[in-house]
Amino acid sequence: MAFSTQVKGELARYMPEKRCCQLTELGAILALEGRGVRSEAGWDVEVTLTNTAAARKAFLLFKQLLGPRPVQLGKAGKVAGRPSYVVRIPSPTEQELEVLRSARRQVGAGGMTSPERVCCSRAVVRAALLCRGSFADPARQNHVEMQLDEASISAVEGTFARLGITVGRMTRRGEPVLYLKDGDSIVDLLQQTGAHQALLQYENVRIAKDVRNSINRLVNCETANVDKTVSAAIAQLDAIRKIDARRGLQSLGPKLQEVAVLRARHPYATLQELAEMTDPPVSRSTVRYRLARLMKIAEDLPDRGSDSAGE
Ligand SMILES: [Zn+2]
Repeated sequence: MAFSTQVKGELARYMPEKRCCQLTELGAILALEGRGVRSEAGWDVEVTLTNTAAARKAFLLFKQLLGPRPVQLGKAGKVAGRPSYVVRIPSPTEQELEVLRSARRQVGAGGMTSPERVCCSRAVVRAALLCRGSFADPARQNHVEMQLDEASISAVEGTFARLGITVGRMTRRGEPVLYLKDGDSIVDLLQQTGAHQALLQYENVRIAKDVRNSINRLVNCETANVDKTVSAAIAQLDAIRKIDARRGLQSLGPKLQEVAVLRARHPYATLQELAEMTDPPVSRSTVRYRLARLMKIAEDLPDRGSDSAGE
């Protein structure tokens, strides 16, 4: 299941305990997607939603706040190429309308505003995510966005700010979009909106990514070290060949001669391995010192055309 579908499913199942939050979440859904529709009996209230999770949440909130009464749930036409769903309250009574109005007032009387309370702010964010949000697969990238409109974007942005979650704002195809790109903020968002299973999954993916990154760093680092060892060994072998060609290895003292022969025989051995091969074994730094001496001796030999002549 796509991560986005999973998060929305969880947000849809999450019913806030407090009535203020239930009213606010429904109010935000109404502000974002609701409208009054003329019908034979008067006016119906309906919301049109582009995903089943949001439709399910609207249905549950209507049931929760209006009690037992018919709520119609059906498919509508396509919105922006995607199937949409409509949740409709046919001919609400005056009492029911009062409940719906008080829900709507939770997010401002006219235009949408952000609520005062933190609990209700979370409800607004849930509604925005359900109605307009999408979550990228966390294994691929940290990205959450909500496509909003001019009437709602400032209220939703302010609500995020009240929750201490930083969001960015951009425009895509003329539509304002809020987005989060930071893993910590996304984890905070999932935590605050009650999507705890999604949160666990997100954290797992993040840990796996972290481990993979540190392994990659380690491997790259080791490769760099291997490269360094190999190029040092190549320079040492060049020096040993030069000394051998010009004045013979036997011209070296026994200790330098020994390390020169060992290096020539074991081009890929580490300093530690060379140190253990000497007789008697010496320290790694002694081997390093002796190899450096060989390099210096070779360097001090007068140049004489091609050093590899005769090889
Ligand atoms: Zn509340």
